[in-house]
Amino acid sequence: MSQRIPLIAGNWKMHKTGTQAVEAVHQLKHLVASAANVEIMVAPPFTALFQVGNALKNSNITLGAQNLYWEPQGAFTGEISAEMLMDAGCRYVIIGHSERRQYFGETDETVNKKIKAALAAQLIPVFCVGELESERDAENTFSVLDKQIRDGLNNVGFNGKPHIVIAYEPVWAIGTGKSATREQAQEVHLFIRELLKKQYGHEFSSLVRILYGGSVNPGNIKSLMEMPDVDGALVGGASLVPETFGKLVFYND
Ligand code: PEP
Repeated sequence: MSQRIPLIAGNWKMHKTGTQAVEAVHQLKHLVASAANVEIMVAPPFTALFQVGNALKNSNITLGAQNLYWEPQGAFTGEISAEMLMDAGCRYVIIGHSERRQYFGETDETVNKKIKAALAAQLIPVFCVGELESERDAENTFSVLDKQIRDGLNNVGFNGKPHIVIAYEPVWAIGTGKSATREQAQEVHLFIRELLKKQYGHEFSSLVRILYGGSVNPGNIKSLMEMPDVDGALVGGASLVPETFGKLVFYND
């Protein structure tokens, strides 16, 4: 039996004002109050973090951010530091989402700096990796992931503690309604776990959680979660409506 507690995480991207986000988490709190043996996280936009953090106090839902900047402070207009996210009540921070790589020029090197900054501040990075459709078609999925993970974790030490979550998000599956099959997800998750085993040892790799992301919905989550190396889901669209998010949390019922 795996020691890994499943994590169901909602990435709200650039959706919801502070008021709308608080309204949504009030509903979600109620819907998932009885959830056991599962961790729940929501990542609203920066502007909603404080309000949502306050609304989540004494609940079983944790707070995450969608990005950070690696410097601790300074003249970096428009950026947000790890310490600021901690102060807002975050426990997690999503790093290297494919939309950040695609639209905002993030590279494996900047992702690496962000992971280090998050860890230095005791934030848990949700480190996103995934191949493009053209890379899968060219049978380069494993080499692409190998590079993303090696470079993203370059010189990152964990002292044996699995203080990171990996999210495998095939880019062709994000927001497209075309999820990876559970066999495709399992194959990649196992590859990632083996890679982490080589780098960080057996204990670390057996404890680290690997989430699947890409068009997860209440109809496909159970089947994905049945796979031995799928430890949760990072969900965009289907996490925006509290009733639907609630169904994802209770995927096993
Ligand atoms: C995401 O953006 O992380 C994601 C997985 O989106 P969606 O669930 O909408 O495919």
